[in-house]
Amino acid sequence: MISKILEKALNTQFLEKSEIVELLYAENAEQIFFAADKVRKEYKGDAIHLRGLIEFSNICKRNCNYCGLRKDNKSIERYRLTKEEILDCTKSAVELGYKTLVLQSGEDSYFDIERLSEIISEIKKYDVAVTLSIGEKTFDEYKSLKLCGADRYLIRIETTDKNLYEACHPDMNFQNRIDCLKYLKNLGYETGSGCLVGLPNQTIESLADDILFFKSINADMIGIGPFIPCENTPFENLKAGDFYLALKVMAIARLLLPDINIPATTAMETLKKDGQILALQSGANVIMPNITDEKHKKLYKIYPNKGAYNEKDNPKKYRDCLSQKLLSIGRFVSDTKGFRKDI
Ligand code: SAM
Ligand code: SF4
Repeated sequence: MISKILEKALNTQFLEKSEIVELLYAENAEQIFFAADKVRKEYKGDAIHLRGLIEFSNICKRNCNYCGLRKDNKSIERYRLTKEEILDCTKSAVELGYKTLVLQSGEDSYFDIERLSEIISEIKKYDVAVTLSIGEKTFDEYKSLKLCGADRYLIRIETTDKNLYEACHPDMNFQNRIDCLKYLKNLGYETGSGCLVGLPNQTIESLADDILFFKSINADMIGIGPFIPCENTPFENLKAGDFYLALKVMAIARLLLPDINIPATTAMETLKKDGQILALQSGANVIMPNITDEKHKKLYKIYPNKGAYNEKDNPKKYRDCLSQKLLSIGRFVSDTKGFRKDI
């Protein structure tokens, strides 16, 4: 029956929850990956958008139970990049050909709107798209960041199961997370969301709800990450998420939102060698290489062994190797900013 469901998804870009559940339970998922790859090719072509990721602060006021950057984890060394360091990193990335930079951090109040605005305005002089991934802010704060040039914003819902959300985020409010996504969409950001696969007591049915949620908010980007246990967090002794289940969630998101941008996430590569390549062959069309300097990259420890294959090489060597690897699977690095409406 999988074939019938996939045919419906290809023709209508819509599935009932029960149908998504059936796909998620399916043992032979090859057909799902194949269908998602076909849709990716039809709507997005063979170009891969590379987004240079700058992890500019690992200081966080939140306490997400899965994340190594959580406030109560006293065992990691904390850092903040200076504005100059962020701009140096930007300059090198632009010289390497990056057209989008992603500024990511913990929720660090030091970087208030004034500081962030200055940094974004400087980066925008390089004619690159700027994506922010810095957590929850008010509508007015998101508005100010948009006005000074931010183009996109990533904020995963993590899970749409309210009880599970609360069990994972002791100091956060589920409705506020949803409101943030609404604010961002209303302000005209390209808005990215996503979920973690493998949270404790997460059900297949709740993952189906996550996918329907992405469709309902018309997300422009979806990042699916398998959960990876991290030492010195409340979830340190839990099992990691299932790579193939995460891949299925990602592939089904592609079927229902054919023209969006979907990254092959670093967590997929961390969990499985060549996991990002498998993701690129199952619906993904984006990679976010980490271009933070070596010293700080090591300290941004949301989970252990984070990092894509040979990402430890310098950013130029890594980019060259990645380009070659992409060519070997019939894909190539895009030279556009890669907005949803671009191809
Ligand atoms: N602080 C911002 C936020 O939470 O939106 C951005 C940075 S946060 C480190 C980025 C993403 O990392 C989160 O959305 C979460 O899904 C992911 N993450 C954190 N800990 C993880 C873990 N142990 N395994 C997999 N992904 C994790
Ligand atoms: Fe902070 Fe984001 Fe980690 Fe939560 S996921 S602890 S908000 S860095």
